[in-house]
Order: sequence, then structure tokens, then C-alpha cells
Amino acid sequence: MSSMHVLSGLNLEEIESVTSQLGASKFRARQIHNWIYLKSVSSIDEMTDLSKKFRDELNKVAKVSEIKIKVKQESADGTIKYLLEYPDGECVETVLMRFDNRANLTACVSSQVGCAVNCSFCATGKRGFIRNLTYKEIVEQVLTIQRDTGLKVTNIVFMGQGEPLLNLDNVLKAMQIFNEDFQIGARRLTVSTSGIIPKIRALADLDMQSTLALSLHAPNHEIRSKLMMIEEKYPMDELKKALKYYVDKTGRRITIEYLLIKNLNDTAECAKQLAIYLKDVKCNINLIPYNPTEKNDYQRPSNNSIMKFKYLMEHSGKKVTVRLERGADIDAACGQLRGKVD
Ligand code: SAH
Ligand code: SF4
Repeated sequence: MSSMHVLSGLNLEEIESVTSQLGASKFRARQIHNWIYLKSVSSIDEMTDLSKKFRDELNKVAKVSEIKIKVKQESADGTIKYLLEYPDGECVETVLMRFDNRANLTACVSSQVGCAVNCSFCATGKRGFIRNLTYKEIVEQVLTIQRDTGLKVTNIVFMGQGEPLLNLDNVLKAMQIFNEDFQIGARRLTVSTSGIIPKIRALADLDMQSTLALSLHAPNHEIRSKLMMIEEKYPMDELKKALKYYVDKTGRRITIEYLLIKNLNDTAECAKQLAIYLKDVKCNINLIPYNPTEKNDYQRPSNNSIMKFKYLMEHSGKKVTVRLERGADIDAACGQLRGKVD
């Protein structure tokens, strides 16, 4: 038996090729496209402006989705974490964050199952790399959130499981769909990377309007090597050249993510070195207080030292924010995703 078409993740042209097989007009394809991306239905039967007869025919050759919600957890702060299962049984998390003061609904999506980069502080890396997600599987994460909540996602960050720049083709295709089919502006899409230099340069050459976030996490080579093995392959001095190339090419400001770990990279001397490193890089700084994971003994700094570090970095003339911890009570915070089923 030939396999069913899965409508989620198809662009308008691809939906047209499904409807034309059934002898239907392009207008039907446009209606289906709206139901999938803007109204986020779970089934063909909910597409009520299609005739019952046409829905029956469509049901025989297509389905909306093939993803399953395995676990859904809601945090006291409103964050929702989904553990999703793909047909081959692999699972990833996707997280919905609401920031009450704004109308923004941010989806944090996974780009791979597991991650090969294996940073010492991250639960995802501890699993190793399992496989890349296809662009459809990435898109399905956001559709699942929209279907389940009935809400429209406004911002997307690639900060779930995986290193997006090691799955760049699928990530770029997913971004194109978020942009064109979900109608989410490119500036509301953020890709976070541990620093894959050739891919940062490739992104720069595409001259995208989306945001690049770089997980720097250290002020010098020695400390970064301890935290991130990738520093051996793509060291900070080369990384800086790539960042400057990105800014030159795109004109966009980069977001520097800096994990704060107690007594490791949170000292005044670290702040000073970081300011020097970033002096000629057009960027904002986002400080991320370390979230505990099981397999290491790093600690989160006190609020006092977080504020002190922020103050020192602001003094260097940069805009600095401290990332709000979202969903830590359900292990949905940064670095806590590992596809687990308890
Ligand atoms: N692989 C990409 C994107 C996913 S991780 C990257 O590393 O950039 C998203 C962010 O969470 C990264 O900045 C990552 O360094 C950070 N992170 C990982 N483990 C963390 C932890 N235990 N506490 C806080 N942030 C963490
Ligand atoms: Fe991979 Fe990012 Fe985790 Fe590092 S922090 S192991 S790059 S997911």
C-alpha cells in the first residue's frame, strides 16, 4: 500500500499536487493550507469549508499529522513542555513559553534527537547524537503546540535538543516554512549555535534577517575548553572572525549567550576578559544562570553575583539581559532536555 500524504510541513504547491490527484481546484489547496498553518486543525474532518464528499476522499489519501504527544507538563509559570514521539519511536521535547507582559508566545524547538557536541553542562549532550530531524518533523513541533493550545505561536527559537547548524539544510527549510506558511517574521526566528564556524559563515552568506545566538559561555580559551569540547575544533579567536563576518554581511546584531556557573566563569576577571573579547563585536549579551542537571556538580551563582556580572558587562557598553528561568520545575529549562520518559 502506498503511504499516506502527511499534510503538515507541505507548502502550498505540495498541497496542490495532493488535491490535483483528486481532481480538485487550487482553491481547495489554499483552504487546506489555511486550516493547517493558521487554524491548526488536528483532522481533515475539521476543515468545515470543504464538502463532506471531498473530505472523505482526502481522508483516504492524506492525514494531518503523524506525531504523538507522549507527555505534556505544565509549569507553575505557564510554560508547557511536550514530549513528542515520531513514527520511528524517537522522542524530542518542544517547549512553549508565555511571557505575561507581552502577547508573545515563543516555541523552543528541537533540531536533532540528542546532540553530538556534548557540552559538559548540558543534559542533551549526555545522550549523544541519535539522528537529525527532517524539516517536517521540526515544523510538526510548532503545529502540535498550536493544535493543542489553540494559540498561534509568534516567535521561534532553535534552543531545544540538538545543534541546529549541524542540521542546517532542514533548519533552513523549516525556517522558510515558519516564515512563508506560518507568516512569522524572520526577525522572530532565532537560531542558537555552539559555534560551528563554517556554518556561521554559510548563514552569513545567505543574508538572512533572522537572529543568530552564539553560546559562548566563557571569556577565554582555557575555560571554554573545559566547558565545551567544540572549542578545540572551533576556537574562540577563529569564532570571533566568523562573528564579525556575520555582522558585516547581514548588518544584524548577534546575541551572545553566556552561561553563568558559580566560581567558574562568573568572576569580575571573567567579566573583564569577556568585555575585551566582545569589544568590537556588534552584540547583545544574554546571561543564563546555570540550571542544574543530574550529571555534573556545577552550581548556579547567587543572585547577587549574577547582578554584579550584569553590571560589569553593562559598564562595557553592551545591552545585557538575564534569561528568565522558565519551567525549571518540569525540567523544561535550558539544558534540561534529554528526551526522557519517567
Ligand atoms: N545547541 C545549541 C542550541 C540548544 S541549547 C546551543 O548550544 O546553542 C540552548 C541554550 O541552552 C544554549 O545556550 C546552551 O548552552 C544552554 N544550556 C545548556 N545546558 C544548560 C544548563 N544546564 N543551564 C542553562 N543553560 C544551558
Ligand atoms: Fe548540544 Fe547545545 Fe547541549 Fe552543547 S548546549 S550539547 S551544543 S544542545
